Amino acid sequence: MSAGGRLSTLVRTRITYTGESYQFALEALKNAGNPTPLPDSTGDQALLESQVLSKLGDGGSWSAHPVGIAGVRLSPGRPTVAYLDSHVELSQGEDYPVAWHALDRLLPYTEADIQVGGVLGLRIAAIRGNDLHLTLAETESRLIVRGVPGTKWEDYLDDRWKDLVRAHAAPLWQSPSFTDLERQDEQSHPLVRGTEKDIAWVGAGLLRRIALFHSSSSAYSTRSWITGSEWIFELDTRRDVRLDHDTLLARLTDPVWGLPLRVAERHCTCDDPPLENDRYMRQCTYELAHSDGPGCGLQFRFRWGRAAYGKDARKQLERLGADTGWLDRVLPGDTRGSRAEAAS
Ligand SMILES: [Zn+2]
Repeated sequence: MSAGGRLSTLVRTRITYTGESYQFALEALKNAGNPTPLPDSTGDQALLESQVLSKLGDGGSWSAHPVGIAGVRLSPGRPTVAYLDSHVELSQGEDYPVAWHALDRLLPYTEADIQVGGVLGLRIAAIRGNDLHLTLAETESRLIVRGVPGTKWEDYLDDRWKDLVRAHAAPLWQSPSFTDLERQDEQSHPLVRGTEKDIAWVGAGLLRRIALFHSSSSAYSTRSWITGSEWIFELDTRRDVRLDHDTLLARLTDPVWGLPLRVAERHCTCDDPPLENDRYMRQCTYELAHSDGPGCGLQFRFRWGRAAYGKDARKQLERLGADTGWLDRVLPGDTRGSRAEAAS
């Protein structure tokens, strides 16, 4: 293969992981100057990125892309940019801007005697047009969350502040340093906060590879939550679509593009006899752990069966601007009529 052909293949692979534009991925690879095609983060930076993914990915909502993030942009020495989708449909069936929803999940606040909600220590470093620059207090971390054109971050921040005050809760994000309430929370919940730090490398690595959930999965629904010391992802594939967990797992554990993860345990039911009752779901469970470390950090539950979420998920996702090519793959419509026509 020619050098140009090799570069083009690398660019396409990178886009599968990040969702970047061809031109951006091409420039990033040309300028990388090191053998790591996807730069990863550590420390406070990884914690910030991981926390944002965990709060946005906890389910109960629909948007054009899994977890409401269309893709990321990664450049060495510059903040990572996460591109938000336009709107989200919450379980009550109403649409809200993803930017509004993100602030609702991310901004720290506290109610009397209750654990801090949102991301502990999250602060707004700047607002520049559609870009909200996030940081963790007393750190150099930085993550840009980019809203769709016309996103009114100031208005949404103001709304959130007023909502919390009305509910007798205390917004915490305007204090430049950690508040006493946040410090108390950290001391009162050492296990929860410790787990968040321990698995930050996983969350940050997944945020930087967020497009895999769109490009490399057969699931129409992706939800995640952290329980105990584990980050669980539940991916639902509809029964009339072939369940494919191998593509996502192979890319996630790829020695060049993936994370330092290995499959520690697997329970695959793909070759089991057909289910007797269509109402049941089948599940393949994969536990992933750090390549060099003990124990588990990440669990994938690949579920296969009738659509558990959303009566008409395809219509909801179409309305929210989901890509038709993706929908045809993960939620194909009823094409029997058109096939019969084509055959006659
Ligand atoms: Zn399986």
